[in-house]
Amino acid sequence: MSIPAGRHFLQIPGPSNVPDRVLRAMDMPTMDHRGPEFAQLTHEVLNGLKQVFKTSADVIIFPASGTGAWESALVNTLSPGDRVLMFETGHFATLWQGIAKDLGLEVDFVPGDWRHGVDPDAVAAKLSADEKHEIRAVMVVHNETSTGVTSQISKIREAIDSTGHPALFMVDTISSLASIDYRHDEWGVDVTVGGSQKGLMLPPGLSFNAISAKALQASKTAALPSSYWNWQAMIKANATGYFPYTPATNLLYALRESLKMLLDEQGLDKVFARHQRHAEATRRAVRAWGLEILCLNPEEYSGSLTAILLPDGHDADRLRQVILERYNMSLGTGLGKVQGRVFRIGHLGDFNDLMLAGTLCGVEMGLSVAQIPFSKGGVNAALDYLADNL
Ligand SMILES: *Cc1c(COP(=O)(O)O)cnc(C)c1O
Repeated sequence: MSIPAGRHFLQIPGPSNVPDRVLRAMDMPTMDHRGPEFAQLTHEVLNGLKQVFKTSADVIIFPASGTGAWESALVNTLSPGDRVLMFETGHFATLWQGIAKDLGLEVDFVPGDWRHGVDPDAVAAKLSADEKHEIRAVMVVHNETSTGVTSQISKIREAIDSTGHPALFMVDTISSLASIDYRHDEWGVDVTVGGSQKGLMLPPGLSFNAISAKALQASKTAALPSSYWNWQAMIKANATGYFPYTPATNLLYALRESLKMLLDEQGLDKVFARHQRHAEATRRAVRAWGLEILCLNPEEYSGSLTAILLPDGHDADRLRQVILERYNMSLGTGLGKVQGRVFRIGHLGDFNDLMLAGTLCGVEMGLSVAQIPFSKGGVNAALDYLADNL
């Protein structure tokens, strides 16, 4: 096997590129997680995370992939047979729905076309029809990573409020947190689910729940069994700076470093603007190529990634394979229903103009090599946009 020269381009929409200084922050002796220095680290990362979630309430860190934090949100707040409302925005919404079913919840899964986000009017209609308030929770994926569609959480909150329905509101921000504007408190979210390996620029292995007072209240009577995921034990230990079981110590060093970059050095608003700018440049490239953006509603375009449809009869995974072999770049595969039809460009996390330019060059050359019908000039359209919009 030959080893390619130069850097690999990891342009999947998560795990994203980890900055060298974050990797160096992890390269430290593991410390005693019950020792005196550890509490300082815990308090620092929890305080930083609250700023990222925009909450003054509790945030919890699990040594787990995002899927664990999904499960935690459900087992801490709900009881067997509870009704929940979910929307088929794409692959990740479908997976979360699967967990809810596995846990014995009764899911009303509203079908979708994988090209739109959650329709606030549909949320209002479903909740209004539920006169007896049997629906216990509404669960939404903020940024659907399989489609590049971002649902409008504040509008969904307004829709819930317009009905006066008391359901809990849970949001998956695994691919939006620290990439796309998100406000746990202001948008009245009860449980926000997050993960380390996308906008937070960390390796996989940590996931989060941000919890409202209402969700914490619900956790006191929730009857689904929980042990590893139990919030009460975690919150109690965290208050003193510790964890009920071994935390992922070295990933917490990495988290401390990435929070410093996001909050103290770059600033979240600038980070969000950078993501939107790279997303727009990418879309200009796609349009110039004559290809189709999967997301149909411009108000729901994702800042984290762009999913691109290939013309009928062309295999997106073959294009990805050509690009990997020739240019040493990984692009996101089509997931679930859109497998083989779309590929995804991740433009999230630790990313800049020249990395985007390199990424788009790899795609444009790959389209030629794979003999997919397209027009040249996508890269130029993106570069013009970047140069004109500093
Ligand atoms: C990546 C992702 C997940 C899955 O997280 P894992 O860490 O793979 O368990 C869930 N939801 C969304 C929106 C994601 O992007």
